[in-house]
Amino acid sequence: MPENTPGQAARKKAKATKAQPKSGAELIQEELEKQGLTGQAAAAEIGKLAGSIGTGAEKEQMPKLIKTTLKERGAKLPIGVVQDGALRRDFEVLSEDDWTPPVERKIGAIRKDAENMTVGQFVSKILCLTLKRVGKVEFTDRMPQEQKMMLLSEMFQQDVMYMYIWLRYIHIGRYVKMNVECGRCSHEPFDFPADLDTLDVEVYPDGVGTLEQLIAVSELKNGMEIGSQRFRYVRIKPVQWKVMEQMTRATTQDDWATSEMMFLNSVVGFVGLDRLMVCTQSMLDTMKGKADIEKLKHDVDSISAGADMVVSGKCPGCNLRFTRLIQWGYESFFSNSSVPNR
Ligand SMILES: [Zn+2]
Repeated sequence: MPENTPGQAARKKAKATKAQPKSGAELIQEELEKQGLTGQAAAAEIGKLAGSIGTGAEKEQMPKLIKTTLKERGAKLPIGVVQDGALRRDFEVLSEDDWTPPVERKIGAIRKDAENMTVGQFVSKILCLTLKRVGKVEFTDRMPQEQKMMLLSEMFQQDVMYMYIWLRYIHIGRYVKMNVECGRCSHEPFDFPADLDTLDVEVYPDGVGTLEQLIAVSELKNGMEIGSQRFRYVRIKPVQWKVMEQMTRATTQDDWATSEMMFLNSVVGFVGLDRLMVCTQSMLDTMKGKADIEKLKHDVDSISAGADMVVSGKCPGCNLRFTRLIQWGYESFFSNSSVPNR
């Protein structure tokens, strides 16, 4: 046992020097205690994010992502999964030989129960059945379902999405049939084949090999307040898949609810505080100004990498360009009706 846990030390110190300005470590400790996270729970939360980091950065630091396509990228995650302290990007889905009637039967059972889950949970369950390996973890039949689900939840949102798209691409093909309604002319709704081959994907360079290297700094005008101090430079990481799993239909229709869930997951600290920390709702509530909210949203989005599900084409009626989101729900993505007629 160490003589003092960080919590005890901070409390002792706070008592002894009440009038003194608080150090970063003390502010973090106070905030964690407010959240009811003390001792091991707090250490586990912070430990997940690689412990302490330096405070050198005084200005915005955003990563340089590489633009590629789904076809070029292949079976390689855009961000990576943390295993043994390093990011791994290799994964493997079922081969054609592995996709058998028993697999279909299990998928059928998941689809029957789809109403009782969020879209994110649905995708996780499909992937639990259809993934063979993520990094060094083999998804065998012997591995408990909860363990597979847990691994996916902790992964980055865009990586899980990418594996799902890749699965579709490999097994059903490159074209996804979309039914488009122009809205600018009276042309009747028409079928449009989206081409997954050319789907834009943003990825981190191979040189980014640890979780720590994924943490960016978003520069805000007013920032957030902790204790009585304001911090303008916010440390953010890509959003995790668990956020998608928690998102209900109601949340996705509520712009702020969606942003809030992303912020709470993405914000991991501040420049000027010497350790990473968990962001809370009360910390978010100290934000000031629409510009800051939009800036943070933009920055969190731009470090999240992954596939851009927007496709564009021209309306056969008015010849004007349209853009649409590819529908990636099971029915419109995996079933026979999602394949264009040739
Ligand atoms: Zn038109």
